[in-house]
Amino acid sequence: MKTIDELLAEGVAGKRVFVRADLNVPLDGTTITDDGRIRAVRPTVSALAAAGARVVVASHLGRPKGAPDPAFSLAPAAARLGELLGSEVAFATDTVGESARATAAALTDGQVAVVENLRFNAGETSKDDAERGAFADQLAELADLYVGDGFGAVHRKHASVFDLPARLPHAAGGLIATEVGVLKKLTEDVARPYAVVLGGAKVSDKLGVIDHLLEKADRILIGGGMAYTFLKAQGHEVGISLLQEDQVPAVQGYLKRAEELGVEFVLPVDVLVAHEFPDLKTKAPAHPTTVAADAIPADQEGLDIGPATRELYAAKLADAATVFWNGPMGVFEHPDYAEGTKAVAQALVDSPAFSVVGGGDSAAAVRILGFDENAFGHISTGGGASLEYLEGKTLPGLAALED
Ligand code: ADP
Ligand code: MG
Repeated sequence: MKTIDELLAEGVAGKRVFVRADLNVPLDGTTITDDGRIRAVRPTVSALAAAGARVVVASHLGRPKGAPDPAFSLAPAAARLGELLGSEVAFATDTVGESARATAAALTDGQVAVVENLRFNAGETSKDDAERGAFADQLAELADLYVGDGFGAVHRKHASVFDLPARLPHAAGGLIATEVGVLKKLTEDVARPYAVVLGGAKVSDKLGVIDHLLEKADRILIGGGMAYTFLKAQGHEVGISLLQEDQVPAVQGYLKRAEELGVEFVLPVDVLVAHEFPDLKTKAPAHPTTVAADAIPADQEGLDIGPATRELYAAKLADAATVFWNGPMGVFEHPDYAEGTKAVAQALVDSPAFSVVGGGDSAAAVRILGFDENAFGHISTGGGASLEYLEGKTLPGLAALED
């Protein structure tokens, strides 16, 4: 894999460089609520610009349906990138159309442009190789060189991630190099005890990683929406909590294998429940009650881990040497359900362990809840990408950067 430093040493002055970034930031209307991903790719963009390249930055944002949708415009992200670079950033209102071609052609040495959301084009995410390839051909016309630095998207076999680097001389950006370096520390020669904390909402996405982690981790702590599938697997009723009924047998299998392998599974002992999901817009008080994890009322749902669980999890993290955390412990967007996520974040800050926080919402949670990101070993910009790496899968966007 060629590094950005090697590319810079060869000289990029006057060259048009396509940077596949991950500017998929959380938005509230047009306001960016966490700019971590933009800050993470800034050094790559600024190094290229400083070396005289004409930089064309591209990314996806959200899940538009293969056609332009103003709710998913990259314009706010482009403006924020300009602020961080301290220079004007041009913005093309399409991805490969007239605006993009004109914007790219008008760049002078050291200038930066952002093109509109890649996913406004059906070819970006198409399962059809020819359709993706045709879109990659159009993208390739915008540049002479390709730099892959959208770590959060490297697990996607998408045109800008997988097909485009095959069409242009390519290198890996600094962010991808850093992320892969950290993930190596979690897979090779791991410092022990190695604890993994999993939570969040995308239960079926995350169950796959458990299979693999059972062979690697010493301790697995479960919170968030995923906890209820585990509690159900242990025979408890979970009321109207998030539940993946079809995964219960698989989870029972994990619990059994963990016992055989001597891996400790830690599940919530108490949870915060309420009759309904909180209003995340008004943040009106939700008045939850605390119940034992085996006594969730039939008409209520679990929305955060409880106080006894917060203490238990902090204790299980205090003496770990390595921690990987993906997925909030509760609906942290509402203040009544943020304490579980805060407690885990605080435990990582207090512990001497090398700690990695992965996942778009987990990383945003840590910053939104006011933690200093430097207090963690690493805050990854990729959730799905880190998980698939830890699962031992080949990531299309990394494979494409190999020579
Ligand atoms: P990440 O982006 O870090 O990988 P996910 O996208 O899987 O995390 O999950 C984040 C979401 O999970 C948050 O929006 C949070 O509100 C939600 N969540 C956490 N706990 C629960 C729960 N008990 N019930 C429903 N949603 C939950
Ligand atoms: Mg998420």
